[in-house]
Amino acid sequence: MTGCRALVTGGTSGIGLATVRRLLAEGADVVAVDRRAPEGELPCPYQAADVTSAADVAEAVRAVAALLGGPADVLVNAAGIYRIRPLLELSADEWDETLAVNLRGAFLTGQAVARDLVLAGRPGVIVNIGSTAALVADASEPSAHYNASKAGVVALTRQMAAEWAPYGIRANVVCPGVIDTPMLRLMDDPAAGQAYLETGVPLRRLGSAAEVAAAIVFLTSADASYLTGAVIPVDGGSTAI
Ligand code: NDP
Repeated sequence: MTGCRALVTGGTSGIGLATVRRLLAEGADVVAVDRRAPEGELPCPYQAADVTSAADVAEAVRAVAALLGGPADVLVNAAGIYRIRPLLELSADEWDETLAVNLRGAFLTGQAVARDLVLAGRPGVIVNIGSTAALVADASEPSAHYNASKAGVVALTRQMAAEWAPYGIRANVVCPGVIDTPMLRLMDDPAAGQAYLETGVPLRRLGSAAEVAAAIVFLTSADASYLTGAVIPVDGGSTAI
């Protein structure tokens, strides 16, 4: 991926950080965009932005182009939040907060990057991060607002693929299952978590952020040149059963 310029939101933690590392290993130039400065050392430049803010996103996209010497042609939208709340107790503000980060954030960032690419007449590729929660319900970790936001990300990605194909921009969505990152709640109760892995996940283990990053980086690469609008579960088989 030498010569590729990549912007990764949520790039200081979990799946985003693993994607940063893998893109760098494949030769891309990368900037991590996140709302908090990284606690440890980052292997690439960092740009602060809250992805719910159109002004922050516009500034971040400008700053990334300046840092990398041209507009980003790879965008990975990994910024996200996950809150558990039973549907009967869920407040409108909690609904709005999750939709704002997970769905509005992917829209704002995707639109800003695509506008620059179209203006420059350059092709590009977007990978959004959905979730298996977009595909199946789970009453044991109730999070309707999260599930709805991720279903929105799937629909948004398909629409990006359809509208932006004429400009040479591909867009795909990866739907992780239970992945071992700071976001993961499954193992809060280790016994219940282990039971879920044994019955709900054919591969019977958590996934790693690096395993999700491998799928993401494949989608950004020339090897995926005929893939757009695809929804790819990376879930140890959980949505297959
Ligand atoms: P992490 O919490 O490790 O990383 C998410 C990053 O996004 C954090 O650094 C977080 O910052 C940042 N972020 C949150 N809100 C904003 C915002 N408004 N603006 C900018 N950055 C923000 O989680 P994961 O790596 O696990 O998650 C990455 C993506 O994968 C998410 O979209 C998540 O929904 C999805 N996913 C994860 C699964 C899992 O099992 N881990 C399963 C399915 C999907 P902060 O720490 O301050 O919140």
